[in-house]
Amino acid sequence: MISYKELGLVNTREMFSRAIEGGYAIPAFNFNNMEQLQAIVKAAVETKSPVILQVSKGARNYANQTLLRYMCEGAVAYAKELGCEHPEIVLHLDHGDTFELCKSCIDMGFSSVMIDGSHLPYEENVALTKQVVEYAHQFDITVEGELGVLAGVEDEVSAEHHTYTNPEEVIDFATRTGCDSLAISIGTSHGAYKFKPEQCHVDPQTGRLVPPPLAFEVLDAVMEKLPGFPIVLHGSSSVPQEEVDTINKYGGKLEAAIGIPEDELRKAAKSAVCKINIDSDSRLAMTAGVRKVLAEQPSEFDPRKYLGPARDNMEKLYKHKIINVLGSDNKLAK
Ligand SMILES: [Zn+2]
Repeated sequence: MISYKELGLVNTREMFSRAIEGGYAIPAFNFNNMEQLQAIVKAAVETKSPVILQVSKGARNYANQTLLRYMCEGAVAYAKELGCEHPEIVLHLDHGDTFELCKSCIDMGFSSVMIDGSHLPYEENVALTKQVVEYAHQFDITVEGELGVLAGVEDEVSAEHHTYTNPEEVIDFATRTGCDSLAISIGTSHGAYKFKPEQCHVDPQTGRLVPPPLAFEVLDAVMEKLPGFPIVLHGSSSVPQEEVDTINKYGGKLEAAIGIPEDELRKAAKSAVCKINIDSDSRLAMTAGVRKVLAEQPSEFDPRKYLGPARDNMEKLYKHKIINVLGSDNKLAK
């Protein structure tokens, strides 16, 4: 058993209560490799933001759970080296789907886990989430549950249609499971193709597709039932048009990729939504950076020469999210 506290990591409890109080949200960025991690840590340190490093089951399979854990221990040391005396870094399992997976992460140094039983019948979701909470809380590890189903595809998680969270269930779920935060479904979705063009309308000024609005009435109803309870939004990438354009300009083929408008995320961040998950945007920023170098310099074969600019592009994106969308800059406790 490795304690996350020995690794210099923190759980989400305190940072979430400060975020709700302060009307901002903590960024939860997924990572799978060194360049993403460097970019996240640099962006968090330079903006003085708390940050959640998320590992999905797919990332665990890709990069190895042990290696990812040591990378996060390294991330804390790196943040200090960059001049941040008291970094607030969470290592979080994204979309844990079994008790065994959550336990394995908890036992090796994760400070927070998600157990996603949202695809199960309600009573089974309650039982599974409760089982993970009971194990995690022995070690002061925070647990995110989920009610409602998001559409879209993300690693192994996929669903054809949304099912909005039923606000009538949230009190029962939070009370019986003891979970520390709740992911809800209000119309965000996984991946870079969040909406079909026929679901959108065209903005007469920019000519771009505007997706249907998020179901803020569902969020409001949840907040009314559970005042001050930490709410999480998954699938909240905005799919920046400039990254998509760069990818397509240099040989890529992303058609009608549509994300969540940043205005809607800004509005959500001011509410009890205190964790906003962003993965696809980082993938797009990295791919755009790599494609540009390889297209402009076809003789280049030093990975540092294309991964370096890709890393810089991701860092810029992370800082933009922190400062201009989530508002978590300058929010470290000390
Ligand atoms: Zn998710």
